[in-house]
Amino acid sequence: MRHKELGMRNGAGRRVWGRLLLLAFMGLALWGCGLLPTEPASVLPTKAPTAVLPTIVIEPSSLPPSTPTTPATAVPATIPPTFTAVPSATPILTSPPPPPVSMQTFGESVEGRSLQAYQFGNGPDQIVFVGGIHGGYEWNTILLAYRAIDYFTANPDKIPSSVTLHIIPSLNPDGQFLATARDGRFSPLDVAANSFPGRFNANNVDLNRNWDCNWQETAVWRDQTISGGPFPFSEPENVALRDFLLPLNPIAVVFWHSAANGVFAASCPDLYWPSYTLASIYGVAAEYPVYESFDSYQVTGDAGDWLALQNIPAISVELVTHESMDWIQNLGGMLAVLNQYNFIER
Ligand SMILES: [Zn+2]
Repeated sequence: MRHKELGMRNGAGRRVWGRLLLLAFMGLALWGCGLLPTEPASVLPTKAPTAVLPTIVIEPSSLPPSTPTTPATAVPATIPPTFTAVPSATPILTSPPPPPVSMQTFGESVEGRSLQAYQFGNGPDQIVFVGGIHGGYEWNTILLAYRAIDYFTANPDKIPSSVTLHIIPSLNPDGQFLATARDGRFSPLDVAANSFPGRFNANNVDLNRNWDCNWQETAVWRDQTISGGPFPFSEPENVALRDFLLPLNPIAVVFWHSAANGVFAASCPDLYWPSYTLASIYGVAAEYPVYESFDSYQVTGDAGDWLALQNIPAISVELVTHESMDWIQNLGGMLAVLNQYNFIER
C-alpha cells in the first residue's frame, strides 16, 4: 500500500512539474512571437499608432500620375461655376450693377435724326427732363441738358436709389441742326445769328403746339401765327416722346424752355395741382418765379398740359435768357426734384 501511495505521489508530482514546464515553454514561445505585452497596458495606446502609421498612409509612389498633388485646388475646378458656393455679394452669381449712364434711341425726327434719352440710376420712380423741344431757337436748353448729362455721369451718387432719371437733350434735332449746323453737342459759337427758324421741326410745326389738349391747327407765338400741325400728334418727334413717356408713367416731367424766367405748372383744362407742387419744388430751389399757368398769350396743344390730362405732373421751366444755361439755378432745381419727388402726390 505504501509503495502504491508513494508511487502514486511520485507520479502525480512528475505530472505537475511537467505541466509547469509546458506552460513555461508556451510562454517563452508567445513572448518570442511578440504576442504578449512587454510593457504595462497603460502605455500601449501611445505606442500603437506610431507603430502602424507608416504602413497605412504614406505611399506616394502608388498614386495615379494624373491625381493632383493638392486636392483643395482640384475640387473647385471640377464643379460647374453655377454650383460654386460664393457669397451673395460676389458678382459671379448676381446681376452686374447697372452702369451709371446708358443711352437709348426712342425715335426719329422728320429728317431721320435720332431722338436720344440718357438714363441714370435704376429705381422705380421715373423722372424725365427734356431739352430742345423748341430746337435751335432755344439752344441754351439743349446745352443745359448736356451739362446735366455730364454732371450726373460724373456724380451718379446724386441719383436716389429709388429714382431713374431720363434726360432727353434735344427733342427737335432738325431745328437744332437748322440753327447750329451740328448734330449732337455743339458750341454757342455754332449758333446762327438768326436762330428763330430752328424753333420748328422740319415740317415747320411748333412741337409744343401739337399735343392733344386744346389743340388748334393754327396756333400763336407772341403775336405771330404758327403751325400746330394738321392734327394732334402729327409729328414723329411728339409721337416718339408720347410713346416713350406713357409706359414709364413718370412722377415728374420737366420741359426746359427759354426765355420767360419762371416755372409754369400744367393744366388741362384746369390747374393740375400735383404739377403746381412740382413747379414749386423746382422753382423755389432754382430761385425762379413760380406760376400756376402761362398767361402772356394763349398756348394750345402744350405738351405739359396733355401730360396733366394723363395724370402725369409736368412743368415748363423758362430760363432767364436765350443764351445762359442758369446752371447753378437749374442744378438746384433738378436735385430738389430728385430728392423731394416723394412729396408729390397725385
Ligand atoms: Zn420754348
